[in-house]
Amino acid sequence: MVKVSARRLSAEIIQLIAQEVRGCTRCGLASGRTRAVPGEGPADARIMLIGEGPGYHEDRQGRPFVGQSGQFLDDLLAMAGLARADVFIANVVKCRPPQNRDPQPDEVATCTEHYLYRQIEAIDPPVIVTLGRFSMSLFLPGERITRIHGQPRKAGGRLIVPMLHPAAALHQPQNRPLIEADFRGLPAILARAEAEQAAARPGPASARPDDDRPLEQLSLF
Ligand code: URA
Repeated sequence: MVKVSARRLSAEIIQLIAQEVRGCTRCGLASGRTRAVPGEGPADARIMLIGEGPGYHEDRQGRPFVGQSGQFLDDLLAMAGLARADVFIANVVKCRPPQNRDPQPDEVATCTEHYLYRQIEAIDPPVIVTLGRFSMSLFLPGERITRIHGQPRKAGGRLIVPMLHPAAALHQPQNRPLIEADFRGLPAILARAEAEQAAARPGPASARPDDDRPLEQLSLF
């Protein structure tokens, strides 16, 4: 029997998902993309950040948050004592919507079911930071980001931390101190999440907030 470490298995699943994303034609966004953007970072990251979808520069390079809001995201991570290499960065949809329009519900449903939730299951981070309202509403539907930003909520056995989208802070400078303060609070939130996760459960949590099945019953492929 071949034995593979959990860490190596996660990394292989993440690579496999990235390959699938690059060849994906499941929704209309595929026809307008230059490159799909699967996401990047260590498969054993303790924090996963989820944005909305690739913009112009991300579509060109096939990497998440490499434009202006990406530079700001790097600054925000530094305020939390983190580097980009410490976190996994993904998006709700993996292909750029035309003219950066909002992703449509069917595009979000297809992309999250086939890719994002499987990435979360493989990485199993104790903390997910949602960037913007599309990402937040996957985990905390019906909430208003302006009301709850920076406040961790428990969902699916992990802490979800809703944050403003970095682009919102760039376009509306009054938002800048809010998002900076929220990022500075991340190390304490991570410490709390890791302690709670270690105490509460023997195995990995589910990607889906309403899903109580143990991981063995979830399909990774
Ligand atoms: N905005 C996003 O939501 N995601 C990116 O990858 C880049 C900009």
